[in-house]
Amino acid sequence: MIAEFKLIERIAALQGADDGVRIGIGDDAAVLAITPGHELAVTTDTLVAGVHFPLDAAPADIGYKAVAVNVSDLAAMGATPRFATLALTLPSIDMGFVEPLLRGITEALKRDFMTLVGGDTTRGPFSITITAMGEVPQGTSLTRSGASAGDHVYVSGTLGDAAAALAMRGRWPALQEAGKLAKSRLEQRLAKPHPRVALGSALRGIASACIDVSDGLAQDLGHIARLSGVAIVIDVSLLPLSRALQTVVPDAEQQWPYAFGGDDYELAFCAPPQSASAIERLATELKLPLTCIGTVGPGQGVHLLDHDGRVRDVPRGYEHFRT
Ligand code: ADP
Ligand code: MG
Repeated sequence: MIAEFKLIERIAALQGADDGVRIGIGDDAAVLAITPGHELAVTTDTLVAGVHFPLDAAPADIGYKAVAVNVSDLAAMGATPRFATLALTLPSIDMGFVEPLLRGITEALKRDFMTLVGGDTTRGPFSITITAMGEVPQGTSLTRSGASAGDHVYVSGTLGDAAAALAMRGRWPALQEAGKLAKSRLEQRLAKPHPRVALGSALRGIASACIDVSDGLAQDLGHIARLSGVAIVIDVSLLPLSRALQTVVPDAEQQWPYAFGGDDYELAFCAPPQSASAIERLATELKLPLTCIGTVGPGQGVHLLDHDGRVRDVPRGYEHFRT
């Protein structure tokens, strides 16, 4: 066990040099400079043991994900990540736990060139709160409210991998070699999401609305539909599913519901049809699939159709995904 100030010293020592940090960890508040002509995007998310991650999760994964889920929110705004603060509640300062936790936090921060500039340390049941700050050229941030009828709906990467890993936890069937590889891919997607920062920035001026897929595709697109005053129609046969998911869940009818399970940290966005070629170029440039999965129309809510035009219900909750 070490004292709180030693822990704070340790955290400070993990931070690299950053021109924007005029005053960092150690004073009463951080003082930060951002690029002239830019605005600050700020977001915060708390992870609570037993709610947002299982009690036996690896501390490095918890730290990584606590940062990544916040970075994903910045990406959805089209912002470039810059700074973060860390509020830690710990039952005790056990470095066997805290050191890998800090390693995970630092790994995620470094991926996106972010610096930790302050925080708070308190005693209590373990929880971790990250506040992330990013910058975006004045007036260009992406929002949930800009979609309009006629737009196309896109999603990045693949959906459902994390939800499948979560649903299978502790109940994986016996797997062949290919199945084992697929399993570890899915588990990586759950433990270590890669927020789509480069995509978010590139979508400024292209996307009419954007959101990161954290709670589940239908719920998240529902926010765009409500705030934009439109209806969104998704063709479930167009949902991008990974080969890993298709290996682990061979029955096609059972695959697509996972795409609604959440924890994907992909970006879902809308764009007018004339942006289609720009989006195609972006996918090539970023080496990231950008798949058109539906359309925006007048009305409200999120509606699912299958390939034959039949209406499908939105799958709800992880229980649904249990096979
Ligand atoms: P105060 O009582 O003035 O709020 P603290 O003792 O809480 O001061 O914090 C001292 C300094 O250490 C501050 O700069 C604060 O931002 C930083 N700090 C405290 N806890 C953390 C943490 N978990 N991660 C990063 N910085 C921290
Ligand atoms: Mg304090």
